[in-house]
Amino acid sequence: ETIGANLERTAARVPDAEALVDVPTGRRWTYRELLAEVEAVARGLLARGVAKGDRVGIWAPNCPEWTILQYATAKIGAILVNINPAYRTHELAYVLDQSGVGLLVCAQQLKTSDYRAMVTEVRPDLSDVVFIDSPDWEGLRTRLAPEEDLRAREATLAFDDPINIQYTSGTTGFPKGATLSHHNILNNGYFVAETQGWTEADRVCLPVPFYHCFGMVMGNLGATSHGACMVIPARAFDPAQTLAAVQQERCTVLYGVPTMFIAELALPDFASYDVSSLRTGVMAGSPCPVHVMKRVIADMGMTEVTICYGMTETSPVSTQTGRDDDLERRVSTVGRVGPHLEVKIVDPQTGLVVPRGTAGELCTRGYSVMLGYWRAPDATAEAIDAARWMHTGDLATMDDEGYVNIVGRIKDLVIRGGENVYPREVEEFLYSHPDIVDVQVIGVPDERYGEELMAWVRLRDGAAALTAEAVREFCSGRLAHYKVPRYVKVVDAFPMTVTGKVRKVEMREVSARELG
Ligand code: ATP
Ligand code: MG
Repeated sequence: ETIGANLERTAARVPDAEALVDVPTGRRWTYRELLAEVEAVARGLLARGVAKGDRVGIWAPNCPEWTILQYATAKIGAILVNINPAYRTHELAYVLDQSGVGLLVCAQQLKTSDYRAMVTEVRPDLSDVVFIDSPDWEGLRTRLAPEEDLRAREATLAFDDPINIQYTSGTTGFPKGATLSHHNILNNGYFVAETQGWTEADRVCLPVPFYHCFGMVMGNLGATSHGACMVIPARAFDPAQTLAAVQQERCTVLYGVPTMFIAELALPDFASYDVSSLRTGVMAGSPCPVHVMKRVIADMGMTEVTICYGMTETSPVSTQTGRDDDLERRVSTVGRVGPHLEVKIVDPQTGLVVPRGTAGELCTRGYSVMLGYWRAPDATAEAIDAARWMHTGDLATMDDEGYVNIVGRIKDLVIRGGENVYPREVEEFLYSHPDIVDVQVIGVPDERYGEELMAWVRLRDGAAALTAEAVREFCSGRLAHYKVPRYVKVVDAFPMTVTGKVRKVEMREVSARELG
């Protein structure tokens, strides 16, 4: 099935159910209205001459037009190119050029980001740019190709056509353009929502970026395939606005990367928000600390919350915890392999499957694996082997019952004096320190041991300064000596990608420079 056909099916099933709510502007669409809007924009794109396979870029924060364009492009078989709203002219130019965007849909302004000025710099003639919140967008949905043209185009679509290029988060280096089909992402969104038991009664609060698969696949496609309602709390993530939206819209589902939940739970007036409507949600994207999961369950009432693990290249989710798993596993693992997918853990050197419980590289295969990296056959061949296994670059273990634990990225593994140290393990331990609210552990170059451990920590408000000695003392006797951080750096924030992931590459660069 194509994404357009799936949306039509939902709109026929629950036409009057609410589909989309934009909290900042108060605008609302039922499924009948959303489908009509999507078809108008689809016909507007046809009128502008957008052909099947043409790339249409979207450079905007979360807003209703983002979602409408997502479905409109899928409906005409154009390839939507998600452009990170944190990009600046240099990255914008790269992505427009690398993907060959012919038409760009773009926000005008957000806080200090003047998108119009940046686009004008990169695309001086602007004839192929449609600004949202300007007469351009109105024009797109008023000058329409005949309905027969839309139906004719739909007849040419196949479920395995490419319809989306998503650049990876750029956590470990330069973003790569994962090319995805209807089949890849519609199924993934469907199964992620299915595991959480969504119905048309569910209302999903989406502070996660649409630019990323967390928002547009696990959020939007999960919702539209189930007739649930998508709630946009704000243009850019804000913890207070997120909880206010949950309260106002009586949301049953809340999404977030761990840092978002940490920020929401840390609000001084957290207790004043009524979030009692929440039932479930997803935490994903980077390691999910056990104590944060426990607070999400206990203090946010998200008793059925699940953890997902995945990557852009796999649409994204490969494993997910289930509502029926026992509590310990639901807070401390990334669950089991999703329906119709395969996962194996291999020795990165030999490629052979390792014994259960042993760490190795997680590989996955099935409907979710991307078509490839856009115009990068060598990178694709490096990531996907001849048997179609995607090599994720993540280190994981699997227990006898198939529960997976992500122990870290191969690139973040610290090798100190020949001992492998998984930063995640040290981070989990340091969270037990009463003054530490957030912590990231990295390896820094060291003459004697090759690498030494360094912890960047964020302290609780009002905590006294924390020295490296005090941290080492805290670890002493409870962590093996080679896992105890030699350096501790107290910070207010970590370097982040816009998807809310900590950029350890940048932390390593900063620390290496500081240590000389
Ligand atoms: P880039 O590939 O550009 O360096 P990225 O890998 O962060 O960036 P994404 O595709 O957004 O880009 O993220 C996928 C990665 O996020 C996974 O490979 C994994 O390392 C990490 N990840 C996702 N979910 C989890 C999770 N639940 N626990 C631990 N790590 C996770
Ligand atoms: Mg990656």
